[in-house]
Amino acid sequence: MVKILDKEFIPFISADEISKRISELAGEINNYYQDKEPLVVSVLNGSFIFTADLIRSMDIPVELTFIRVASYEALKTTGKVREILGLKENVFGRDLLILEDIVDTGNTLEHLLDAFKDLGTKSIKVASLLHKPDAQEKGNKPDFVGFEIPNKFVVGYGLDYEGKGRELKEIYQLA
Ligand code: 5GP
Repeated sequence: MVKILDKEFIPFISADEISKRISELAGEINNYYQDKEPLVVSVLNGSFIFTADLIRSMDIPVELTFIRVASYEALKTTGKVREILGLKENVFGRDLLILEDIVDTGNTLEHLLDAFKDLGTKSIKVASLLHKPDAQEKGNKPDFVGFEIPNKFVVGYGLDYEGKGRELKEIYQLA
């Protein structure tokens, strides 16, 4: 058990399980991109550890970039506006592999996919370490999923609670 601020978290996915599953995912991704050189787009902050481990398990050449998604309430509309920050590469005509830490409601991913399609990408695939199928409201399932998990808050392995817990080697679930 770990305590972060006011919350208690229990062990959920061990470091060994994560590492084994990432090797499998890397194999699936290698097969898919055999003769291509995708632009890997890692969505900060939560994906940084997943990205570092996954690209080192893959054996195809990649180009890597990092983005953030800014999310804010729009005036006079319901729902949130999401904006891509930090993208310097020209993605026109490129094969994109988006790396996400977790797909929860699917809203962030849906906005990302729409924004990238508008920029003229050739293809877009999504690899997400975690996916909460029961929480997903919008969009498609990620193409490559590490673990499908129940609709409970998780921390560790890059994911935070109030900015803390990203350094944990295992994934923990809210008790
Ligand atoms: P979505 O737009 O799919 O609802 O969620 C997107 C973002 O919410 C994720 O990239 C992640 O930053 C955050 N998030 C969703 N569920 C969790 C969770 O269980 N734990 C943590 N730490 N972040 C989450």
